[in-house]
Amino acid sequence: MSSVEAKLKEIRVTMAPSPTGLLHVGNARTALFNYLFAKHEGGKLILRIEDTDLERSNPEFEKDILKNFEWLDIKWDEGPYRQSERTAIYAEYLGKLLKENKAYYCFCSEEDLELKRQDQLSRGEAPKYDGKCAKLSKEDVDKLSNEALRNGKNPVIRFRNPSSTRPRTQSNLRIETRLFTQLAFVVSKRKNFPNHL
Ligand SMILES: [Zn+2]
Repeated sequence: MSSVEAKLKEIRVTMAPSPTGLLHVGNARTALFNYLFAKHEGGKLILRIEDTDLERSNPEFEKDILKNFEWLDIKWDEGPYRQSERTAIYAEYLGKLLKENKAYYCFCSEEDLELKRQDQLSRGEAPKYDGKCAKLSKEDVDKLSNEALRNGKNPVIRFRNPSSTRPRTQSNLRIETRLFTQLAFVVSKRKNFPNHL
């Protein structure tokens, strides 16, 4: 087995609380399950602090969370990593996703998105992003980026989802890509800052 294969086979699970409040019982439950799973499989438990909400994150809450995990006797093997300290890594991968056309900038304002959402709801449809910015040309993106920069606005970055609607099978994991085509996840709300990573 190559070192890459060995690394892919290694069981690595996280507990990833947000330091925006005291430790929530749901986080403690997930952490306990992941801890037991990691120990059972001879894998590693990684503690990652999800401090992506810069306004609401507070080091006091982080302290409380760590203290409570210790009290619960849940021992992590790596971390704590903080999302806010890993922006250089995310910047690199966001750049790669954009370059490979697997993600795109979305310049829609919150107000526009909310109007479209209300419109879809009023027609009894499940609200979803309409993909407007997925079709922008390179020139449009440059123009809108400059405009956003001038106006102090920050475009979000969305995943460009596979257009295939056929379910794919990869090893024993069945991926229903149709679901993902509906969603166009926002991967980054601030430049270089993760949203769902
Ligand atoms: Zn958009």
